[in-house]
Amino acid sequence: MTAPTPRPGIMDIRPYVGGESALEGVSRVIKLSSNEGALGPSPKAMEAFRAQAADMHRYPDGGATRLRAALAARWGVDAERIVCGAGSDELLGMLCRAYAGPGDEVLYSAHGFLMYAIAAKSCGATPVTAPEVDLTASVDNLLAAVTPRTKILFLANPNNPTGTYLSADEVARLRAGLRPDILLVIDAAYAEFVSKNDYTPGIELVDGSDNTVMCRTFSKIFALGGLRLGWAYCPPGIADVLNRVRNPFNVAAPSLAAGVAALEDTAFADLTKTHNDYWLPWMQAELAKLGLPTTQSVCNFVLVQFPKEEGRTAQAADACLRAQGIITRAMGGYGLPDWLRITVGTGEENQMVIAAIAAFQASWN
Ligand SMILES: *Cc1c(COP(=O)(O)O)cnc(C)c1O
Repeated sequence: MTAPTPRPGIMDIRPYVGGESALEGVSRVIKLSSNEGALGPSPKAMEAFRAQAADMHRYPDGGATRLRAALAARWGVDAERIVCGAGSDELLGMLCRAYAGPGDEVLYSAHGFLMYAIAAKSCGATPVTAPEVDLTASVDNLLAAVTPRTKILFLANPNNPTGTYLSADEVARLRAGLRPDILLVIDAAYAEFVSKNDYTPGIELVDGSDNTVMCRTFSKIFALGGLRLGWAYCPPGIADVLNRVRNPFNVAAPSLAAGVAALEDTAFADLTKTHNDYWLPWMQAELAKLGLPTTQSVCNFVLVQFPKEEGRTAQAADACLRAQGIITRAMGGYGLPDWLRITVGTGEENQMVIAAIAAFQASWN
């Protein structure tokens, strides 16, 4: 007797481990491990979510009509070209399922988001990585890694966990250097946090091509990670494909309602942005004062490097922070074992994590 076996590639998937949220024996946990919005969700989104309770026997609007209209109005794009998903993770998986399979390659940069490998392997495709330069995606290295089998290139811009980004010109150069039959997916999960003149989330590239998709999420600046809500802006042909492969009711009704309310509450999103604009450089400056290098993150997290000396390492720092109830993200799974990723939290949380790291450093000086 043999048990059913999954398709080749499935057992190569290393299951994604989310940021932890609880610690044994610690009553107050400071969770800075998943880049969730520091201020929590908009009160209006919470209200819209609650208002859905009495209707939970009803199927949601499978077409996400109101949300797509709100997104289209907000970003000045065509609602027909928007497809919503249960988190942008679902959309990344759908794109892989629709456009790649066994024998195909899915390309991304070396420290790209872990979901790309999972999505590629689950459809039987082979993940391929291109080296980065200074923990930043390299257009030249990505183009050099293209082979006749390449079907999809995932570019997180800016990237998680490095926090670094490519300028609009560089992304356009990447698109121009790729064969037209290669799908370029720009994953702009942190777009709303970026304040750089040379950055764009990629809408103009989608508009100007039939082979580029931009994915966005409500999990980061809008702080709706628990509701699983994301969207893709696509060329018409690709929107059509996604609408064929997606589950008909893939986004829950309370998620759709909360998403619309979160989008309408621009004041709250602005507040979150202002908060991040203050605390991100503050955290980077404080870590620099402690002699700890960070990347030039433009997101709502910092990536900080610890020395290799025994006892001073990222693992030791992680253990020391955990003992005080502070959870950050260890980066071994991303091939960055000397680094910790720390989400920008509330002002108090940021002060606490920096104070704890300062004490950890001081114990060695
Ligand atoms: C958080 C994140 C996502 C998205 O998440 P969902 O919650 O599935 O929408 C996508 N890409 C990157 C790079 C992220 O960091």
